[in-house]
Amino acid sequence: MRAEIVSVGTEILLGEITDTNSAFLAGQFPLLGIDLYNISTVGDNLNRLSEILRRAWDRSDLVFTTGGLGPTEDDLTREAIAHTLREEMKVDPDLEKWLRDFFASRSYAMPERNLKQATLIPSAKALPNPRGTAPGWWVEKEGKIIIAMPGPPMEMNYMWQNEAVPRLKSRLGGDIILSRTLKTFGIGEGSLDEMISPHLGTSNPSIGVYTRMDGVHLRITAKAQSRDEAQGLLAGKEASIREILGGNIWGVDEESLPSLIGDLLISRRLSLATMESLTGGLLANIITDVPGSSAYFKGGLVAYSNELKIAFGVDPQTIDRHGAVSPQTAEAMARAAREKLGGDVGIGVTGVAGPAELEGRQTGTVHIAIDAGTKRASFNHNYPFPRLRLKLITATACLFRLREVLQSQD
Ligand code: ATP
Ligand code: MG
Repeated sequence: MRAEIVSVGTEILLGEITDTNSAFLAGQFPLLGIDLYNISTVGDNLNRLSEILRRAWDRSDLVFTTGGLGPTEDDLTREAIAHTLREEMKVDPDLEKWLRDFFASRSYAMPERNLKQATLIPSAKALPNPRGTAPGWWVEKEGKIIIAMPGPPMEMNYMWQNEAVPRLKSRLGGDIILSRTLKTFGIGEGSLDEMISPHLGTSNPSIGVYTRMDGVHLRITAKAQSRDEAQGLLAGKEASIREILGGNIWGVDEESLPSLIGDLLISRRLSLATMESLTGGLLANIITDVPGSSAYFKGGLVAYSNELKIAFGVDPQTIDRHGAVSPQTAEAMARAAREKLGGDVGIGVTGVAGPAELEGRQTGTVHIAIDAGTKRASFNHNYPFPRLRLKLITATACLFRLREVLQSQD
């Protein structure tokens, strides 16, 4: 199945909104075994939209559109599909009733211009949209399909999951498609790509590599006649990848580092406290994104100035005469977090975020220390990133390292 996406909206061309709908759909297609060949964006203009649709119709089996299904004069997707297929739009009595009832239930009179949302062409069936007023269109003709969905992502996602996916599954045959995401930290996308390159050329299972906030993710997708066979393919590929990436894989699928850390701490009956400088509280923020984190997280201190670090027990000797911190500063912060903030485990994190006003110090230098009483570990990294990204990757590194330390205690 050769598929393409047409995203409709002048706002996208003006850079006012980002086309997240296409990105969402593109990410969903591998799970259904749909091959995406093109994505186009077109403004709210009947001629240009019809032109793009004609080309899409000629070269693809499956065409997805998002946007342009609203009631206004700018919303032209239905008109363009009708024009492309040379069919006439007519008001469908059932849809009209649904739409009038929708407005009545909210005590509004339906503006007459909304009536065009109740139209169909002979090749189209309506796709219900309980989250808005614009039904989608499922158009089937000459063995090809156009699926027109609304622009607002909430409406589009719902229609995709509940209306488009079940219909597509029944059209696309009985293949079972399974996927599994392996989440890694500590290897950049380029090196990771190189390390697993022998596995990247295969199409079943196929592997996608994606950089995310919490590291690089690998999505393995396998297609087979039965669930067992697909699972077997996935497991085989996962085992080969694990052999290569080993300890850099911290989780799978929906798992997140902060919730894995939570599980590890709870199962070991340990509490955690943090003392942060470079990350400015971001680490505590991420830890507390997890519901129930109060069961193990005592709290954290943002000791941004060196005076505050020293007031909380950091030896001034660990800080040089230019004020630059050292690995020992982080170690003392981790100890202080454990002893002064009362956690069983303390994390200290500091470094030089830049700009490079500190003589002789490279910006992006990060010192992380973990103090679990009997077990201590410290890690030094260099991340050549701008401030915000540096803070994010450092907070993630703290959790990744904490996971290593907690697991090594088993
Ligand atoms: P409405 O009934 O709200 O007019 P519509 O189907 O006509 O819906 P548009 O008018 O094209 O859709 O877009 C409505 C809103 O949906 C946009 O302002 C934007 O916020 C969002 N939107 C549209 N297309 C996209 C897209 N491709 N990616 C992300 N958001 C989008
Ligand atoms: Mg609109």
